[in-house]
Amino acid sequence: MFDRLSEPSTQVDDKFVSGPSNASLDGLPTQRSDAQFPACEKAAQQRLADFAEHRIANYDLQRDRMDLGGTSELSPYLRFGLLSAEQAARKAIVARGGGAEAWLSELAWRDFYFSVLAHFPHVTRRGFRPEYDAIAWDNHRAQFEAWSAGMTGYPMVDAAMRQLLEAGWIHNRARMIVASFLTKDLLIDWRWGER
Ligand SMILES: Cc1cc2nc3c(=O)[nH]c(=O)nc-3n(C[C@H](O)[C@H](O)[C@H](O)COP(=O)(O)OP(=O)(O)OC[C@H]3O[C@@H](n4cnc5c(N)ncnc54)[C@H](O)[C@@H]3O)c2cc1C
Repeated sequence: MFDRLSEPSTQVDDKFVSGPSNASLDGLPTQRSDAQFPACEKAAQQRLADFAEHRIANYDLQRDRMDLGGTSELSPYLRFGLLSAEQAARKAIVARGGGAEAWLSELAWRDFYFSVLAHFPHVTRRGFRPEYDAIAWDNHRAQFEAWSAGMTGYPMVDAAMRQLLEAGWIHNRARMIVASFLTKDLLIDWRWGER
């Protein structure tokens, strides 16, 4: 898998660098200096370089641990195009090894879900499999509000939801726990949680 791709061209078209001359920052939220995700391409590239140098090698061993910071925390940058999946994949190709391979497969999962969205657009509103649209959700409003506020009384769920409220990002395993708790324990519609 690691040998097939050749080096990309580094030519950048100037018109993409400068941006429109009349661009104004008025009305945009000011960026907190302690922001977990500084909203700029430089921060995205720096975080990728840091991950590739220091953490990718152990990604496969540490990715399940929410306390170790073993993942890249690059999802917001990939989501908003401050970093391309190709740039990320090339770092993994150069890094090689089990950790890099595991990380590359997560980038592939990202592409897989984009393909599902493209070919089955109904999944944004309904279950992938029609039989799941027949689930009789309880949709208990007060339980939903407790979940949303991190006030369910289940420490792991509440810690994750409070981090989500504060930072806007949580670890994959934390996402699995809160999503499963909402749908399978509280029987609340996943579309409520998604909002
Ligand atoms: C309930 C739930 C909701 C999720 N919502 C989102 C979301 O809104 N946006 C999002 O990008 N990911 C989502 N994921 C997938 C995954 O949890 C995040 O991509 C990951 O936690 C982001 O952290 P990271 O950048 O450190 O990922 P790393 O582990 O460093 O992975 C690198 C990149 O690969 C992609 N990736 C990793 N895991 C997955 C996965 N399971 N499926 C698809 N792509 C993946 C992401 O782009 C991620 O940035 C969700 C997972 C669950 C269980």
